[in-house]
Amino acid sequence: MRKVSNPAVLRRRIAASRRGGATVGFVPTMGALHAGHLSLAAYAREETDVVVMSVFVNPTQFGPGEDLERYPRDVERDAGLARASGVDLLFLPSVATMYPAGPDGQAVWIDPGPMAHHLEGAARPGHFRGVATVVVKLLNLVQPDRVYFGQKDIQQALVVERVLRELAYGVEMRIVPTEREADGLALSSRNVYLDGEERREAAALFASLTLARESIAAGERDAGTIERAMLALIARDAPRAVVEYVTVAGLADLVPIAGAIDRDAVISLAVRFGTTRLIDNIVVRFTNGKPGFS
Ligand code: AMP
Repeated sequence: MRKVSNPAVLRRRIAASRRGGATVGFVPTMGALHAGHLSLAAYAREETDVVVMSVFVNPTQFGPGEDLERYPRDVERDAGLARASGVDLLFLPSVATMYPAGPDGQAVWIDPGPMAHHLEGAARPGHFRGVATVVVKLLNLVQPDRVYFGQKDIQQALVVERVLRELAYGVEMRIVPTEREADGLALSSRNVYLDGEERREAAALFASLTLARESIAAGERDAGTIERAMLALIARDAPRAVVEYVTVAGLADLVPIAGAIDRDAVISLAVRFGTTRLIDNIVVRFTNGKPGFS
């Protein structure tokens, strides 16, 4: 595995692989790698010849008062994990490389449109503009055949997929299933912020999604009823959690569903323990009226 910070060197190395006929898979991350990130790398390893991973804590997707400064950073640890996961090129750009005019001086942005206004976008204004812009920059540098995103951040994956489609990027998007701890908590770089009691209570997030899945499987279709049952479970089992939202939304547009779930949907939530913000989701797709879950 090679570590590269200089974009010209990155381009040269990738171009050399391409001349030899290799396909390129790309895994963008913000580092603090865990088994979720490594599972994206494993899919890329399986499906493409050269695996490129980036580690870049993107300042423009953090809002004022969010955890940009304290976001966990450990490049040496990340490099060891990436190497062990079969990453060929680890791209570690500087802020100056990604934002030549500085994050505050950036004048050109990708506006991902209405899909970015709901759910996380409503809670974190400007977040997806920052995500879409940095992903497009990274894709321009790496020019992969496939790019790998986690279902953990489902709205991010769907927003980026839409951007790539509408801006005619010839990149194939892969959405990889969420890696979880034994008690169901989705792996996240932010889980390290949780204290012991918060960590125990955090299992309620996936338990509430599991409850939603079971009730839909049993025939329940009313979005409000499902959301209320999830909220009640979280209130009971995670009294330290402050819920930002628990929402059933259309998978195609992420618009919250009021009333009956009559189309493919994503059930997602955001919860805070102190200043630590956790998100999770499941997706339900209907085939001839029968629900399937991922
Ligand atoms: P991040 O470093 O948090 O920006 O995440 C980088 C990529 O890893 C994103 O595509 C995430 O959706 C994905 N990811 C994060 N956590 C998980 C997880 N628990 N399972 C699968 N993918 C994940």
